[in-house]
Amino acid sequence: MGLPLSFEFFPPKTAEGATKLRAVREKLYAKRPEFCSVTYGAGGSTQDGTLQTVQAILDEGQSGASHFTCVGATRESVREKLALFQRMGLRRLVALRGDLPSGYGAMGEFRYAADLVQFIRAETGDHFHLEVAAYPEMHPQAKSPEADVDAYVAKVRAGANSAITQFFFNTDAYFRFVDDAYAKGADIPVVPGIMPIINASGILRFADSCGAEVPRWIRLRLQAYGDDVESIKAFGLDVVTDLCDQLRTAGVPGLHFYTMNQSEATLAICDRLGLG
Ligand code: FAD
Repeated sequence: MGLPLSFEFFPPKTAEGATKLRAVREKLYAKRPEFCSVTYGAGGSTQDGTLQTVQAILDEGQSGASHFTCVGATRESVREKLALFQRMGLRRLVALRGDLPSGYGAMGEFRYAADLVQFIRAETGDHFHLEVAAYPEMHPQAKSPEADVDAYVAKVRAGANSAITQFFFNTDAYFRFVDDAYAKGADIPVVPGIMPIINASGILRFADSCGAEVPRWIRLRLQAYGDDVESIKAFGLDVVTDLCDQLRTAGVPGLHFYTMNQSEATLAICDRLGLG
């Protein structure tokens, strides 16, 4: 069997976006993903769109996963959502804390993702396969790398089945994280999250906001290409294909692609490596 792949989408904002995303999904299904997941807007912004997109994935005969954030939520609202997920026939969730939009005061009844994982297990037993987030380069709000590994270990102890990482370009950070977590007894699969480089400013901005490092040599080259979109795409494809190849050779349990609702770069990387 080949390396398991999974693809992440965000809910489209318009009918046109939904049609475009359907075509993107069709192309990516050719790679026989283990599952396709859909992000969830913490605090409520895109939750209906998430459910509609997950339902579409299920209706297309694929395995779907909903991301599910708990910041600002109450036990009762989470219970209702879990019942809805079960009625939809969903068996996999990505359980997260999420980030409230600034100015959003209420913290809700869940403080950390580990609390959500524990609550889902208490309410629904083993019904859901629960994924959690992992941060090889440390979550930006963590007190220290060790405290962040401990926070991750707490999610595993609470009942997570597997993890997906924040994107990264330093494989050493990933392997170190996995070693540290395993040493503390958290030995579930940690699937690298892969961010294809599609446009330079997008990835640099996104990396800054989520605490992922774009190495200086990559940053400098992306900046030097300026508006030369084709060169950025070609360079990005080389860099990310090499990254995936190194990870595959080292024996990672799968690859999770942040597709950004586009198929071209993800497909090109998979094709180059003969994945899927
Ligand atoms: P947690 O695991 O709760 O960690 C949050 C912070 O709290 C960390 O700094 C951690 O070290 C710290 N912490 C945890 N427990 C303790 C403790 N007991 N004591 C002290 N500190 C503690 N966001 C969305 O809004 N929607 C999405 O769909 C979404 N999908 C994502 C998918 C993946 C694969 C990843 C990696 C991230 C995703 N995010 C999403 C972003 C995520 O919500 C943010 O990174 C958020 O800030 C943290 O969520 P978490 O589940 O990792 O939180």
